[in-house]
Amino acid sequence: MFNSRIFTLYPDYFPGYLDKGLFGKAMRENIWKLETVNIRDYSEDKHKTVDDTPYGGGDGMIIKADVLARSLDQNVNPDEKIIYLSPKGRLFDHNYAKKLSKEKSVNLICGHFEGIDQRIIDTRNIEEVSIGDFILSGGEVAAFVVIDAILRYIPGVLGNENSSKDESFENGLLEYPQYTKPQIFEQKGVPDVLLSGDHAKIKDWRLSQSEAITRDRRPDLWQKYKRIKNN
Ligand code: SAH
Repeated sequence: MFNSRIFTLYPDYFPGYLDKGLFGKAMRENIWKLETVNIRDYSEDKHKTVDDTPYGGGDGMIIKADVLARSLDQNVNPDEKIIYLSPKGRLFDHNYAKKLSKEKSVNLICGHFEGIDQRIIDTRNIEEVSIGDFILSGGEVAAFVVIDAILRYIPGVLGNENSSKDESFENGLLEYPQYTKPQIFEQKGVPDVLLSGDHAKIKDWRLSQSEAITRDRRPDLWQKYKRIKNN
């Protein structure tokens, strides 16, 4: 079973949509589970303080190392992966999601305010992971993104084992355009090739569309794709 454990000040946000649909079904089938740890429960003062002002001055508050350390040390087993969701982290992508899907347990720390004390990152073998070049007000949304993307790679979670194979990024390209009924929508038909029944031709068309879209929208992916293709 894949175990995800979320360290948060807002445990009520979870499971959110993660116990619905296919993810919920897989959860009920014990393919994966979600635990939340309320960081505040590990504060030892009477006000349940979790944050304090930064040394050296500056805006905002920092989550305290001692409180966060207790929450981790009492819940994480040795050798489990610990991730701090952080705009300073390595960029999350499908390859990393796939890699994480092979772990038995993934612990995700959701920061708040201005973030967490650096010493916790330095002492607890924590990897920092960012979901993009923007600042969120808390790590919870990022945790949803990471778990959602991981779950898609866990066998038995998606109904159709093949349905992730054709997605964008799987072959280094963005996905080709898709169409469904009705055949005519506001006077617009669908590309003839898709109605031809010629599977080889359809495959070629889809690949050329994928290539064109990737070249146009994501020169970074396109360069990588070309390099791999030419090797
Ligand atoms: N002061 C920090 C930002 C803190 S934002 C800095 O400038 O780097 C508050 C919390 O939101 C962070 O602790 C982190 O857990 C989460 N967060 C914000 N942006 C994120 C992103 N792009 N990816 C992942 N987590 C993010």
